[in-house]
Amino acid sequence: MTFAATILTLYPEMFPGPLGTSMAGRALERGSWSCETLQIRDFATDRHRTVDDTPAGGGAGMVLRADVLGAALDSVADARPVLAMTPRGAPIGQARIREIAAGPGVTIVCGRFEGFDERFFEARPQVEQVSLGDIVLSGGETAAIAILDACIRLLPGVMGAPESGAEESFENGLLEYPQFTRPYEWEGRTIPEVLRSGDHAKIAAWREARSEYDTRLRRPDLWERYSGARDQSASGARRDMKDD
Ligand code: SAH
Repeated sequence: MTFAATILTLYPEMFPGPLGTSMAGRALERGSWSCETLQIRDFATDRHRTVDDTPAGGGAGMVLRADVLGAALDSVADARPVLAMTPRGAPIGQARIREIAAGPGVTIVCGRFEGFDERFFEARPQVEQVSLGDIVLSGGETAAIAILDACIRLLPGVMGAPESGAEESFENGLLEYPQFTRPYEWEGRTIPEVLRSGDHAKIAAWREARSEYDTRLRRPDLWERYSGARDQSASGARRDMKDD
């Protein structure tokens, strides 16, 4: 099955861009995914093919017109989820990426300038407003490329070893443990001895402990959610035991 990506953009030449090389590029050639672009400007109705106008209430920059965006999106009406790239959206996470990758594909709307006329979202409630994080990009295209990359690597047969996907950061709510490789010694630093022990249980325990430690230190937000969920399921299990 082909994962079909449709991108609404003012810069179709930016696609597939970096997704045309390496793992994603080979998957594109094999037909594991497809990449179609729609030029938003083609849906402008005036002689000058205007897609934007000045912000109501004043201020710098230009705003993408709701009527043009609405017509562009209506031309691809189908069952795939629609994401609009905006720093005002909810930060996308690995769980949502997995859901999208398991489906038929995705339509992504890329903003430019000061962003979208809000009525586009009001009138097309199927559009999910998505952010890549608390940064401001110059356009939604690079965010769309990042999201597509995250989906494509999860498609069946795209990644070399399937298990390398399951152990990744965020898959279990934690950051991944740190990795090491040869040479054994570099600038006086060695690889943790346990990783050379060949004792798989000990290695797994070390990795789990480092994964938890690093998450607590680096991402207190993730840690809070993870430990909260863990404590809750533990107290649930205790309740179950009492009920027996
Ligand atoms: N004025 C807007 C920023 C516009 S940046 C604001 O302050 O919220 C121009 C376009 O870049 C946006 O419409 C969006 O499509 C894209 N973009 C910028 N930052 C982004 C982010 N963190 N995540 C997703 N898209 C982003």
